[in-house]
Amino acid sequence: MKLLEITRDEIKGKIGLLPIGSIEQHGPHLPMGTDSIIAETIATKIEEKYKEDVILFPTIFYGCSLEHSGYPYIGISYITMINYMVEILKTTKKAGLKSAIIINAHGGNESVLDIIRRQINFTNKHFKVYLFSIIGRNYDLFNIIDMHSGSLETSIIKAINPYLVNEEKIKEINDYSVKEGVFKTITSYEANPYGVINIGGKIEVNENKGKIFIDRALNDLETLLISIK
Ligand SMILES: [Zn+2]
Repeated sequence: MKLLEITRDEIKGKIGLLPIGSIEQHGPHLPMGTDSIIAETIATKIEEKYKEDVILFPTIFYGCSLEHSGYPYIGISYITMINYMVEILKTTKKAGLKSAIIINAHGGNESVLDIIRRQINFTNKHFKVYLFSIIGRNYDLFNIIDMHSGSLETSIIKAINPYLVNEEKIKEINDYSVKEGVFKTITSYEANPYGVINIGGKIEVNENKGKIFIDRALNDLETLLISIK
């Protein structure tokens, strides 16, 4: 079921699925909404399979993207994110849902989502929040580490909607070097002239590997869902 489409009497006892992403630069070749599109795709597929158990929340598009300062992004601060999410989750509990799974596809949200999870879970006995993140799962599909807009993300988007990958722009990228400290002490803008953090070489666009990634992520999310429902 979808939160925006159900009535108040259908909410009780369900598990909320909250996709969260970002709106930020994804190199010269991927859409600003890449992370949000990925999170929403995965959450939507699970909702289609478990309609009676879950409620799909509208995607939270705006995330924490300070690590892309210098490039365009539309986002919110860490403090705002904590307050915003904690209040959404508190009212989710009040509305009668059993628990919530946050489905995150943006690395910049990771640490703050952990705090949010702690805040809710350690102050509630029965209502629990689970965090399912696609970050760091490359399932050894590529011989590179895609930290941002690289082979993995590009291939996932290609698998979701090939028209969203501008492959001509990928050809223009001629520097894949990454400066030390990216996402720790320096931004993507400072680390690579294209804002692409694909450690180990050129971007490989492979729709099939993108599909495999999505299938494996769905499988893992399904395992989590089954264990809590
Ligand atoms: Zn991304």
